[in-house]
Amino acid sequence: MFSAKKDIFFDLDHTLWDFDLNARETLHELYGRYAFRDLTGEENSDRFIETYTVNNHRLWHLYHHGKIDKETLRKARFEDTFRELGIDPKVFPWKFNDDYLAICPTKTRLFPHAHETLTYLQSRYNLHLISNGFKEACEMKLDRSKLRPYFNTIVISEIVGVNKPSPEIFQFAISNGKTSIENAVMIGDNLDADIRGAQNAGIDAIYFNAVGAQKPDDVLHMVTNLKELQSMF
Ligand SMILES: [Mg+2]
Repeated sequence: MFSAKKDIFFDLDHTLWDFDLNARETLHELYGRYAFRDLTGEENSDRFIETYTVNNHRLWHLYHHGKIDKETLRKARFEDTFRELGIDPKVFPWKFNDDYLAICPTKTRLFPHAHETLTYLQSRYNLHLISNGFKEACEMKLDRSKLRPYFNTIVISEIVGVNKPSPEIFQFAISNGKTSIENAVMIGDNLDADIRGAQNAGIDAIYFNAVGAQKPDDVLHMVTNLKELQSMF
């Protein structure tokens, strides 16, 4: 279906690198280390992690659309979580935030078949990455998860100064990757940032839907598992 393409652009978080699983693992470790059970009254970290995950997704959405900056995102995701759990955010130990930022990107959980699919695609196409993540975290994830060698070019929004879904970041990635809109395809999990962003820039896109979401009408191509990509390319 896409075999005439030459360049494949991947998103990183929630597409290759299993953000939720890695975050969950980190938060669980820190919940124990900081004895959060004394604050929440709950031995189990589940409710803390669930609440954090919802807030994190909501705040990333605002960040993607330029409504809040990096510092606000990082602060509010824990403050809002504490508030919702009925704890005064003032008692939140900020060292926890620093530890979270340092530990989470060292985690290496990827979506199933990530390495196998990237190896297959790399033998036939030029692979590239476009991430809305932060430089330091992004580079740590790529190195620790051994993903970096698959990609010819890596575009990180924090370095470029503009986020997906802005057409500018796609235009930059296309010229930086020495390819063309026609030869390129974008694969990502975020309907606004990755799919509509690419489509608005004239680039074909494949929605990576690992969460069982309904496919919107304006989304033309979808996979629910990375392995499916091997039969599309
Ligand atoms: Mg993503």
